[in-house]
Amino acid sequence: KRTITRLPDWLKTPIPSPGSNPNFGKIKADLRGLGLHTVCEEARCPNIGECWGGSNKASATATIMLMGDTCTRGCRFCSVKTNRRPPPLDPHEPENTAEALARWGLGYVVLTSVDRDDLADGGARHFAETIRRIKAKKPTMLVEALTGDFMGDLDMVKIVAESGLDVYAHNVETTEGLTPYVRDRRATFRQSLKVLEHVKAVMGKEGIITKTSIMLGLGETDEELWETLRELRKVDVDVVTFGQYMRPTKRHLKVERYVTPDEFELWRQRAMDMGFMYCASGPLVRSSYKAGEAFIENVLK
Ligand code: SF4
Ligand code: SF4
Repeated sequence: KRTITRLPDWLKTPIPSPGSNPNFGKIKADLRGLGLHTVCEEARCPNIGECWGGSNKASATATIMLMGDTCTRGCRFCSVKTNRRPPPLDPHEPENTAEALARWGLGYVVLTSVDRDDLADGGARHFAETIRRIKAKKPTMLVEALTGDFMGDLDMVKIVAESGLDVYAHNVETTEGLTPYVRDRRATFRQSLKVLEHVKAVMGKEGIITKTSIMLGLGETDEELWETLRELRKVDVDVVTFGQYMRPTKRHLKVERYVTPDEFELWRQRAMDMGFMYCASGPLVRSSYKAGEAFIENVLK
């Protein structure tokens, strides 16, 4: 039997090559030898030309994964490998990451990580230490942390929120109703809202930008999406992004629907009308998509 995978045309994009944008080529060349592992390269993200290319290096964005490649959770949309006891943290990672990033010289870095439920602090101190060292070495670098929910331990959220970062991101990923089918059973929608709410409680409403990301095409209804956005606004989340859910392998959740570029644009406008500061929305958008450019245009202007 033949298997036909029908991807809509708008999802068939070539992976950019270093020759396609001089800035991207330069950044890629600089990266060699720094020992940094970017999610952009490892996940072969189709946006790498736009993010690394940026209009100039000050807005160039890359995503770095901290705390190893093995997660203690197993979300049904995610292809990261899972183990209850991943290897211990590398104590030199905060310093080495900061050093490499400062030498690399891009404008905006997104630090993310696997979930480390095996660690007493969930890795919060490691995250905070990395941010402090980056800011010490290169104060102009904009830093976004995309963290897990620390199993709802708000003291850990506080440790990261107070570390000097510019944007605190935590992804709700989907609607409340779909959360039990999509995310690991230890994650709940309410717990994620509390994380985002607590960041503002610690830093003040104007003191930090909060951000979350939602995948479309998992079977959510329009009404459920409206409700999700209302809940996010209630806790003053500033930025929301929408992207198409893409199934990593056959063992992962099925794509229920490919959402059209027009619908993505419609949701972007709806989010803006609801008072979000900015919104990136499109089939290939990931939560870190051109985050540097968006921050510079919307927050620093
Ligand atoms: Fe990297 Fe995120 Fe941009 Fe993809 S969307 S290239 S992962 S920064
Ligand atoms: Fe993947 Fe994050 Fe879920 Fe771990 S917690 S399985 S890294 S989405």
